[in-house]
Amino acid sequence: MVSSWRRLLLATLPSTCIVCARYLTDGSNLCLECSQELPWIESACNRCGNASLNLPLHHGVCGACRLRPPPFRRCLSLFHYRSPVDSLVAGFKFNARFDIGYALALLLANRMHRYYAEHPRPDLLIPVPLSRARLRERGYNQALEITRVVAKHLRLPVCATAVLRTRDTLPQSQLHSSHSRRRNLRQAFQIGPAPELEGVRYVAVLDDVVTTTATVSECCRALGGRGIATIDLWCLARTGH
Ligand SMILES: [Zn+2]
Ligand SMILES: [Zn+2]
Repeated sequence: MVSSWRRLLLATLPSTCIVCARYLTDGSNLCLECSQELPWIESACNRCGNASLNLPLHHGVCGACRLRPPPFRRCLSLFHYRSPVDSLVAGFKFNARFDIGYALALLLANRMHRYYAEHPRPDLLIPVPLSRARLRERGYNQALEITRVVAKHLRLPVCATAVLRTRDTLPQSQLHSSHSRRRNLRQAFQIGPAPELEGVRYVAVLDDVVTTTATVSECCRALGGRGIATIDLWCLARTGH
């Protein structure tokens, strides 16, 4: 496990920009110039959040979502998964760069704060879980780390045991038949021992990167089976599919 001392140390190092490494005097971790250069998503499908360029949208919704609406209300993401966001996320996820994770999570928290000032707020925040094997190997769940920062800023409760990942799945992009893709995801998630879910009807699920929505959709279906009627899905970055 990554020690809390190491987290504290990384979070309190002199403040530098996570992109250009310039020293910053305002205590932030991202300079204005780098922030403006980040690949912010400007237009996407209002349901699945697909932000591929030239994606035809009809009343803001893509063809795939009109044909088969996803099991979440909306997927919202800050960035396209490209440079420098891809390396920033990799640093956070694979090299325990909690300073980067914190800076990105703060950007997400700000965005969610603005969104929920104008929309009903969810009752609970739920990070997409890792399998036990992956958690042991990595020492932390990056989605939970992001969710903790967001929860603090939005003053919403977190439940990390609401949904459990029963096994690792292969990236959906590596599987070529629809049968193997379905089999890959089947029962990959189940509801955990979470009294916090009692009476909850509306949650926000958070992840670092959404590639296809197939995996997170399985997670949402598990929650739907537990009576959660509305799910918003939030992530740092979205790959173009
Ligand atoms: Zn910078
Ligand atoms: Zn869509």
